[in-house]
Formats: sequence, C-alpha cells, structure tokens
Amino acid sequence: MRFCCLASGSEGNSTLVESISNGIAQRILIDCGLSLSLLKEKLFSRGLSPGDINGVFVTHEHQDHCKGIVPLVKSVEVPVFMTYGTFLANREIRKNLSPVFLSPFKGIKFKGLEVNPIPVPHDARESVALKVEDSSFKLGVLTDVGTITKNIRDALDDVDALILEFNYDDSLLSQSKYPEALKRRISSRQGHLSNSSALKFAENFLQRKRKALVAAHLSSRNNSHNVVTNLLNKLCCEKEIVLLIADQNDGTPWINLD
Ligand SMILES: [Zn+2]
Ligand SMILES: [Zn+2]
Repeated sequence: MRFCCLASGSEGNSTLVESISNGIAQRILIDCGLSLSLLKEKLFSRGLSPGDINGVFVTHEHQDHCKGIVPLVKSVEVPVFMTYGTFLANREIRKNLSPVFLSPFKGIKFKGLEVNPIPVPHDARESVALKVEDSSFKLGVLTDVGTITKNIRDALDDVDALILEFNYDDSLLSQSKYPEALKRRISSRQGHLSNSSALKFAENFLQRKRKALVAAHLSSRNNSHNVVTNLLNKLCCEKEIVLLIADQNDGTPWINLD
C-alpha cells in the first residue's frame, strides 16, 4: 500500500490510497474537497487521471471535504461511500448522488481493501474517521475531530500509518482575530484537534512500531509549519519512520508502506 495527501487544510482535503490487488492497482480517494480542475492537476502530476480512481470515501459533509465529489462523479462514473448522516447533510450530494452507505464500525470490502468507519466528535451530522487496510497494511485517517475518544484510540491502535489532524496552536488561536464564538467552536469537543492534543496522541501512538505519521489539516491562520515541525522533532521514534506535514497546496509525496 502507498498513499499521499493531494491537499490538506481548510481550503480542501483529499488523500489518495493505492493498493495492488491481484496484480492490479486499485485507488481510492478519501474526501474530495478540491475543484475538479485542481483534482485533475494534482492527479496528473502523479501520472494519474480521474478515471484511475476506483472509489471515493467521504468522512463528512463539510465543503473542504466534499466540494469536488459531484463534479468528479459527473465526469467519471465512480462509486461514492459515506454515512447516511453525511448524505442527508449535504444538499448537493443529496440531489445528485446515490452513495453506498457506511455504518459506523462496519468494515466494507472494496477492491481488495477493507474500509472501516469510526464515529468522531465534530460539528457535522455523522462524521467518521477511516481505517483502510489491504492484506498487508493499515492506514488511519483522523482529521476534523474535536476530541479523541476511546473508540477512536482502540480502532486505530493497530494501524501502520496515521494521518492525524494538527489543526491549531492554542496561543495562536486565542490571539487570532477570529470571533470568540468561532474560537470556541474550533476548540470545543466537537471542533478540531489542537497541536497539544495531537502531540499527546502521537506520543502514545509512536510507542509501538509504526511506519508513518502525517500531521494534517493545519489551520493557515492558527498554526504554522514551523510550530508543527518543532513538535514533530520532539517525538521519540525510530529513525526509519516517515514523519511529514501535509501541505495545503502540495499535500505530501507518496508514502510507501511496503
Ligand atoms: Zn476539514
Ligand atoms: Zn469538518
């Protein structure tokens, strides 16, 4: 299995996962919060096109995760998977798509992969984190999460790689010009994950042998690459592990788990 973030942050999120099944490469997108033209650009730069995507799994209805889904499905026929709550909450999707519904904790088998949805607290109707596994590796995608529950910790305990939200730095958020109500929403249990909470989770996560940790969904106003780089540098981990920050524009390079 290999994966890369195509984009990550409040302007749009999308992660590409590729696995070889019976000699054939299968690719899924997790979220598609990019315009179709931007998605095409990002896929082309990796030698791919929208027709190479076999399925799209959606974590929740926010536009930074959904904006490009209907245009993508209109341009190439591709199955879309999401919870019923996400379907109900996004008008454009409700009007245009007939997705396959995901049920929390019920893994769904698709093209040699198994995808497991894990409910997460976030200000959305029925948000999920996703665990994607093939016959060899497991990847967790956990962003847009206000607080990490025991269910999330347990479900992601055995993943080889994790994309983890590092949304905001506490002091940058409190000093920012955001309205107080928005600050409260971001930092609430239904909001986003702070650097300090993410770091705590990462410290625990890295006590076992892992292959990669990607810091993702950094706020452009209330966080910075420098701050997160300093945090990642503090983590005790083995030399071979891939530690990266996913960028809004550049995402990440391919990360091979094999
Ligand atoms: Zn988001
Ligand atoms: Zn969200």
